[in-house]
Amino acid sequence: MSAPNYGVWRPIAEHVEYNALESNSSAVMAVADCVRTTLGPKGLDKLLIDQAMNRHVSNDGVTILLSLKAIHPVARMIVEIAERQEQLVGDGTTTAVVMSAEMIKEGKRLIKELGVHPTKVVEGIESGVRHACHLLEEDAKAITINDLELEHVVTTSLSSKLDGARLAKMVITALRTVGENAKYNGEYDFGKAIMVLRKTSMEDQVVNGIVLERKRLDPEIPQEVRGARILITKMDLKPVKESWIKENKNYQEILLMENDRMAKSREMVDAMLKTGTNAVLIASPEVDQAVEDLLVAKGVFAARVSVEEIDHLTRYTGAKPVRVADDLKRQDILGRAERVYEDEDNSIIYIEGGAGKNMVTMVVSGTTKETSLERWRAAIDGVNAAEAALNTGIVPGGGAAELHIMDKVKNARLKGLEQVGLEVVASALESIMRQILTNAGFNGLERVMTAKTSPPGYGIDINSGEPVDMWKIGVVDPLMVKTMALKAAGEIAKSVLRIDRNLAAEDLSPQAMTETKR
Ligand code: ADP
Ligand code: MG
Repeated sequence: MSAPNYGVWRPIAEHVEYNALESNSSAVMAVADCVRTTLGPKGLDKLLIDQAMNRHVSNDGVTILLSLKAIHPVARMIVEIAERQEQLVGDGTTTAVVMSAEMIKEGKRLIKELGVHPTKVVEGIESGVRHACHLLEEDAKAITINDLELEHVVTTSLSSKLDGARLAKMVITALRTVGENAKYNGEYDFGKAIMVLRKTSMEDQVVNGIVLERKRLDPEIPQEVRGARILITKMDLKPVKESWIKENKNYQEILLMENDRMAKSREMVDAMLKTGTNAVLIASPEVDQAVEDLLVAKGVFAARVSVEEIDHLTRYTGAKPVRVADDLKRQDILGRAERVYEDEDNSIIYIEGGAGKNMVTMVVSGTTKETSLERWRAAIDGVNAAEAALNTGIVPGGGAAELHIMDKVKNARLKGLEQVGLEVVASALESIMRQILTNAGFNGLERVMTAKTSPPGYGIDINSGEPVDMWKIGVVDPLMVKTMALKAAGEIAKSVLRIDRNLAAEDLSPQAMTETKR
């Protein structure tokens, strides 16, 4: 029998961290400490400085996490999970990070001080998280688009953001304008109905319609079209490819091809115009200059758009994008809009009064590129929060929903030592309110105790420090943001607590790994 081949693994002292739990959990704490003070409406900002010494102030969890040059591989994991949380629900990243730090802190205590085996703790966390999510679901309240609670969700989600109140108003206007039009298969999908455009040169506004950051092909063509009959083309509009011309050195052939190119371009433009369009939106991968020139010469409104923009344009105007020349002969391809118009000062194109589904564009301004980015993100967060709330319901905010299920989670019956894992989840559930209140300048722990003895739904008023019904003061969160954050926190905690050694491998690339196996 030959000795096992460890391949690229080098379990030599300097490559092995025997105290991995200690090192990994301190990495998590370090990351968590960077964002925990931003939690809640009284959270503080962070000053971010990049390599070029640009300054940027933010209190957005993901922005801060992404700007950290996270360093430690476990810290990297937190950043990735926070990013996923942001993508899936668009909010609750700081909550997830704070809870995961708490779980790891408690879990580590159980493992190190009480000698509980990590697998028991991990199993307990798993059950605890599942149980807690279930309890939150039971407490959730369904809402509809016209309910006052919709406004509360948006305001709560934007309460910690720069200029949040104003943004919340815009978001609510946008939501109510599109209303049921944003429903697909029974669920709201505002990504299909609300566009958010970031524009420093403009004022904040909610536009009924689509706003594209585009210019028309040429200043010569009309700036405005009323009663627009919109043709959207994805057709290849380059009849003769440059590479063909390059390959043919023969002058005669080039001349023939050039003539051919002009004739074919003309044919294409004629076929397009024959549909009766007066506004052509081009998303073709390749467009011959001759085609553009001919469109300009004919005096029709024409502009380039992106493939992503087509989806919105199609829904809004009812146009069917044309892929091949034959499509041009179909009757139903043109979309309609009351008005297509270019604002030349701002280089944007408005499309209003579409014949298809209702759409709204929120134009979000900002004095600098950074503030506009932060406000743009916040606006999207607000829309996401509303979507989650409408689709899954709401729970009391300020950490109240979590606090009042704590005891039930703790008292769930599990066999044996897994029970202790529940304690870990319980402390995480408590940590949210504690952190929000600490950030507001109170003694977090003491205020949490007061809230705990108050009826369900009660938390602490962030200004007076007194117990208050969160439903009544309109501090509510979407259920999904809470459950996703809890699950994300559980995932991080489980992975970190399960690792007992950090080994430095020289090469973990798939190739190296297969070589090792051989
Ligand atoms: P996250 O990145 O987790 O979304 P935020 O900084 O946005 O972090 O804070 C969200 C938390 O702040 C939620 O738990 C929410 O309920 C709470 N919150 C918002 N407004 C208030 C308020 N007026 N009083 C107490 N808690 C609030
Ligand atoms: Mg938030």
